[in-house]
Amino acid sequence: MRPTIARVALPVPLDKQFDYLIPNHFFPVIGGRVSVPFGPKTLIGIVTELTNHSDFKQSQLKSLKQVLDTQPVWSDSLYQLLKWCSQFYQYPLGDTLANAMPSALRKGKPADFSTLVEWQLTAQGKDQLMVGFGRAVKQERAMRALEYGAVSHQQLLDQEISGTVLKALQEKGWVESIERKPVIQAWADPVEADVEKPKLNQEQAVAIATVNSAQGFGCYLLEGVTGSGKTEVYLNLIKPILEQGKQALVLVPEIGLTPQTINRFRQRFNVPVEVIHSGLNETERLNAWLCARDKAAGIVIGTRSALLTPFADLGIIIVDEEHDSSYKQQDSLRYHARDVAVMRANKEQIPILLGSATPALETLHNALTGKYHHLLLSQRAGNAKPTTNKALDVKGLYLESGLSAPLIAEMRKHLTAGNQVMLFLNRRGFSPALMCHECGWIAECKRCDAYYTFHQYNNEIRCHHCGSQQPVIHQCQGCGSTNLVTVGVGTEQLEGQLKTLFPDYKAIRIDRDSTRRKGSLESALTAIRKGEYKILIGTQMLAKGHHFPDVTLVALLDVDGSLYSSDFRASERLAQLFIQVAGRAGRASKPGEVILQTHHPEHSLLQALLNQSYRHFAQAALQERKVAMLPPYTYLTLFKAEANSSEVVEDFLRQVRYTLEAHPLFDGGCQVLGPTPAPLAKKAGKFRWQLLLQTQTRPMMQRLLASAKPAIELLPNSKKVRWSLDIEPQDLS
Ligand code: ADP
Ligand code: ZN
Ligand code: ZN
Repeated sequence: MRPTIARVALPVPLDKQFDYLIPNHFFPVIGGRVSVPFGPKTLIGIVTELTNHSDFKQSQLKSLKQVLDTQPVWSDSLYQLLKWCSQFYQYPLGDTLANAMPSALRKGKPADFSTLVEWQLTAQGKDQLMVGFGRAVKQERAMRALEYGAVSHQQLLDQEISGTVLKALQEKGWVESIERKPVIQAWADPVEADVEKPKLNQEQAVAIATVNSAQGFGCYLLEGVTGSGKTEVYLNLIKPILEQGKQALVLVPEIGLTPQTINRFRQRFNVPVEVIHSGLNETERLNAWLCARDKAAGIVIGTRSALLTPFADLGIIIVDEEHDSSYKQQDSLRYHARDVAVMRANKEQIPILLGSATPALETLHNALTGKYHHLLLSQRAGNAKPTTNKALDVKGLYLESGLSAPLIAEMRKHLTAGNQVMLFLNRRGFSPALMCHECGWIAECKRCDAYYTFHQYNNEIRCHHCGSQQPVIHQCQGCGSTNLVTVGVGTEQLEGQLKTLFPDYKAIRIDRDSTRRKGSLESALTAIRKGEYKILIGTQMLAKGHHFPDVTLVALLDVDGSLYSSDFRASERLAQLFIQVAGRAGRASKPGEVILQTHHPEHSLLQALLNQSYRHFAQAALQERKVAMLPPYTYLTLFKAEANSSEVVEDFLRQVRYTLEAHPLFDGGCQVLGPTPAPLAKKAGKFRWQLLLQTQTRPMMQRLLASAKPAIELLPNSKKVRWSLDIEPQDLS
């Protein structure tokens, strides 16, 4: 019997689906898009079921408005993965599916290349460009935008060039529209370009052979020190995949997606490489998405969101720097791209390789317990030597804008020898607080439970949590004194101090403030590589992916906060930062030195890290986690809630706690901690609280949450607060 009812998942924050009648001449498909009336609006959703039964009377149901796809948007395995994501991360299916679509598809545009109209100048138009356009300013702007070649319709709209103007120019015969259709063809033979390749060392060869010889799904951790040739392994794994006519997906952290990385793949293979990241506009994103789906791309390199790209024939997934925190989405669907990637590989029955010099403790645990295969690259490729590491005890020492005298002396030694020095300070601005010297009053953001950061270059104070800013104040609001002093050191102040200390050596600061302009980071990095700057100051932006062969000294100025943080992952992150930073130094023939200023040189985790290795650190840290019953030995869910009233939020979370504890599935293996105020207890005017649920197994957590969530949604205060669930949170703040 022909189904009469379509069940549709809509992008609304309700955890259910909606039934619509199917008009006679409509042929919706499961996994395809339809548009439907929803209240006064028209929404686009995904058909999840075709049926003849509804809990509602036919007369109560409305009809589908339009069927947008004759094919499902995703392959069955990817669709199953998205359903799994929705369940695992406790996020409504309609929202999950909408999240996984490029915005062009969310808006109802056709899921094919016909959407990608481009405009270009005709020969006549090019002549007219010489002549000029008189007072037709808008037309001139449109013509100039096309001066260097075809531009997509969407991109022109983004530049506020209207369709009307383009139509007018078309009538004059100056511009024409073209439909861009990438060529879909078999990969070139040979797939590998004729470029020089290093001779693989034994560890690399073993890693490649291990993955290649396996069939179907397998998860591999490639633990390789920085510069040990992990990328070379990725390239060698991708080659046979392409030779079989299949595709490869390479995930990289946000900060690691540099032109150098992309070029390494482009130069190596004779197949189209598509890049997917959050900076793409709507058209570019749809184009890349279609190229992967229709096999016009052999390799897709991308950040977190690229994971949900459909592929015609995916053969392998590689996750580079798998420990990187940018793989976890921090809002809406709070998924971890590395974990979901493993699930995807499992569903598609293909191998997945997780690469890192500093594996996440969860991943390492999986490798050490045999759940993942463990592959090692223990030596740096080429002749680079490991760095010498030192904890510099700064107890009782005078710090000049964060620098101790022994460190300054050491810097001088390296600079005089003609090398570069790199300093890390994870705090932007001039100083993290402005204080009254008479009464101790501190300038505080009115909307957050946080101090204002003082930015000297534009003379303002700014809240790094809500973004509010105002001109710097000159008078204490407590006692009226004008004797205001700065407290603490930020990168801006450090930069100023270095100019005084080392006037002969040019310094450059790399942080979010100094690299706001597009392209400024790239040009700064080039200048550094050319040796124009001798002292590099940065936040962790500078730590990742960039190779500076002339840097021989790296110093971390202030990391003690991470050793005693309330977030149990802080020490793991410090260790990862430390190893990464150390990897920046002495890559070529020059030996590198790493200095870490600390008040706690005896700290056991620091000792393991500095004197032994990341692995020693990680094993000690895992032991601590085991004793403290923290992940990966238990599983966490973070309930976050916020509202204008602190009492309402606290009360809501207390009710959540009772609901969980009273639930029949709640047993001795479960524990609830809180509610407690969030580490940033007030943000942008909202009071924030949190509650932590801990279980001994994943299925336990899944069952409990799935079963308790409806009751939580019915709690009296649940509508008065904004609340969310973060499954396996990476960040407890
Ligand atoms: P990673 O990704 O682990 O940081 P890369 O793959 O970027 O390391 O390798 C670092 C450098 O070493 C690159 O310049 C690469 O070409 C080179 N390299 C990789 N493998 C070898 C090898 N087996 N012999 C010599 N050089 C190598
Ligand atoms: Zn604020
Ligand atoms: Zn005062």
